[in-house]
Amino acid sequence: MKPALDRTHDSKVQSWVESANVAGSDFPIQNLPFGVFRRRDAGAEPRVGVAIGDRILDLAGLRSEGLLAGDRAAAGLRLAADACASNALNALMALGTAPRRALRERLHAMLRHDAPASDRQAASRYLVAQADVDMLLPAAVGDYTDFYASIFHATNVGRLFRPDNPLLPNYKFIPIGYHGRASSLVATGTPVRRPSGQTREGDAEPNFGPTRALDYELELGFFVSAENRLGETIPIGEAEEHIFGICLVNDWSARDLQAWEYQPLGPFLAKSFATSLSPWVVTMEALAPFRAPAFARAAGDPAPLPYLFGQSDRERGGLDLWLEVSLLSVRMREAGIAPAVLGRSNFRDMYWTMQQMLTHHASNGCNLRAGDLLASGTASGADKTARGCLLELTARGQNPVTLPTGEQRKFLEDGDEIILQGFCERDGFRRIGLGSCRGTILPASPA
Ligand code: MN
Repeated sequence: MKPALDRTHDSKVQSWVESANVAGSDFPIQNLPFGVFRRRDAGAEPRVGVAIGDRILDLAGLRSEGLLAGDRAAAGLRLAADACASNALNALMALGTAPRRALRERLHAMLRHDAPASDRQAASRYLVAQADVDMLLPAAVGDYTDFYASIFHATNVGRLFRPDNPLLPNYKFIPIGYHGRASSLVATGTPVRRPSGQTREGDAEPNFGPTRALDYELELGFFVSAENRLGETIPIGEAEEHIFGICLVNDWSARDLQAWEYQPLGPFLAKSFATSLSPWVVTMEALAPFRAPAFARAAGDPAPLPYLFGQSDRERGGLDLWLEVSLLSVRMREAGIAPAVLGRSNFRDMYWTMQQMLTHHASNGCNLRAGDLLASGTASGADKTARGCLLELTARGQNPVTLPTGEQRKFLEDGDEIILQGFCERDGFRRIGLGSCRGTILPASPA
């Protein structure tokens, strides 16, 4: 793992796209996240773009005129530019780190305040207002895997079910995960229909109907970059090279369905009805200034087994990233009340790093493909204000949350909107953000 701070991280550099220089913008020139957008005009096609301020730079458009990588461009940059002529980021993801970094450097040079006039003129013809587009899923995700990497989440949830023995014995050895469902990943803004399923209360007969314990999960997702072949593993020291970047993930969950169905094989229909993603993928390059030591294990905790232990992973494998979840009810929206923050946590508090999750996933020879999505599991911290789902926050509905309107929530109601946000900040660097991931609950389908 390289420190990899370069001129693209220089906090003094501004962009000629003025909105990128506004304090608090998620998308200053130091960020440059990739996404897939579609103009709202009839017949518009999905296109790869990069966010800058409140605009999007249309990379496919720039590339079509040879403006991204001319004849004399290095091979890596040409490869990356060609990969942007697509309706998804998979091709760019498959190229791995070096071409992606070359493209970032090219975009930075084009968008900085002192860019050559020719670059500025070319790029300004391919700027689109974010307000004029719909954001789509960033990649065609072949497989989605969800982990359980917060020891605070695992302990809080475990305590609800096993007060004397909250944490199972495998937790400190294995990054626990399960195979999720890729087909029901949805882009931010897509409404989420309340699912129906089997539940059982106490010893009563099982029942089929709409969930009464609908929950969100505040998670961080990361996309696989260069793939490993079937039968090959990914050493922890190389794991970073296989990660493209990160986004926000809301892993909606029906707790009553989950409680009845999950033994002995784990989550199934309680999770697979929908998972929402934020649209902008913030690259590992953009995150370089915000890397942090991995979680400090308590005295007496086992060291990770050797295949999960890397010196640079220990020193810089963590990520100092704030995550936040808010709720906006129908009544709050009607009254013009701002969304209420329900939880705020930091990704530094995750027990396992992204690299450990990825290395573990491939440790049996399972091939991870470009565009696969791995998610962290609910990101909770030690503090009561740092709980990433209602199951934890309300102790399975025992302690309802009170909203600014006086409404109470044990679990989500129809019409509730959940908003996830994330950002990194550190003295001496520009703050960068992940944008947001939104979803509103629709009533269950009529039986
Ligand atoms: Mn989850």
